[in-house]
Parts: sequence; C-alpha cells; structure tokens
Amino acid sequence: MKRCLCHCKRFIQPFEVIGNLKMGSITMKRPKRIEGIARSTMAFILEASKSSYPKEFAGLLREEEGIIKEVLLVPGTHSSGGGALMDLYNIPLGISMVGTVHSHPSGNFTPSDADLHLFRRKGFVHIITGYPYSKDSWSAYDSRGDKVDIPVVEIEFDYGDEEEW
Ligand code: ZN
Repeated sequence: MKRCLCHCKRFIQPFEVIGNLKMGSITMKRPKRIEGIARSTMAFILEASKSSYPKEFAGLLREEEGIIKEVLLVPGTHSSGGGALMDLYNIPLGISMVGTVHSHPSGNFTPSDADLHLFRRKGFVHIITGYPYSKDSWSAYDSRGDKVDIPVVEIEFDYGDEEEW
C-alpha cells in the first residue's frame, strides 16, 4: 500500500482503485461547458465524504447537458442507496465521465501534487471536498488545477428522496 500524496498523508491512494478498474474503459468526455452541479448531487458528495471520514471518498463525475448530476463511487469507498449513485461495477463500458471527486480528511481542499498529476491525465473538472464537509468546504478545479466556479443549481430529478441541506 502506498502513502497518499495528499495533504492527509494517509496510506491510501483512491485513484489507484479507479486504475485497477480498467480506467481505460471509461471515456472522459470533454463537456462543452459545465454550468453547474445539481444541489442533490453536491449534497450527496458531501454526505459521502462525511460518512467516509476519516477515510477518503472518491468517485467519478457524470454530466448531462452541462450539469453534473451523477457520482459513480469507487469501490472500497463509502456507498449507500442514494438515488444519484450507481455502483462503479455496474457502469456500462464507454460511459462518459467528465472528471473526478474526492475528499481530503485533512480539511485542506487544495489539490496535492498527486491530484494535479491525475487532473492533467483524466477528466476536465475535478471536485475536492475538505473536512468538515460543509456546503462551503469544497472547490472545483480544471485539468490544470486552476479553481473553477461551479454553481450549485436546482434541478428536477426523476428519482425521489432527495435530502435537503
Ligand atoms: Zn487529493
């Protein structure tokens, strides 16, 4: 097991798990633009980060019409029966992902060198959440690691049981 290069300095490296799962079969699609993230999706990300604490949570982001609406969990990290979530094992080959999300239990949600390396190689938008995982303790970055503004937007989902926050 490798030592995580994140600020948390834990002995885990969540993105290696993605690598084991044939990352090559997951297409990263460059979105025309990302206009926002659904409030329920962001709430789910923060909730999953919290539940995983003190471990890291990691997942992949999926967008639809410019809005990030789905998170695919990386196996071995927290999972629950939430609506906006599919198990990574169940994703069809060739599914389009726009980027990654992971948590920093240290609370510092700036990208580490390892994160920047990943950002350059995979995906176009990346979210890092930081402990205590409140609605303000996260940020989004582009593939160069520059901060990007991703507004949280209200959208209607077909599947119910959204948690408010
Ligand atoms: Zn990190």
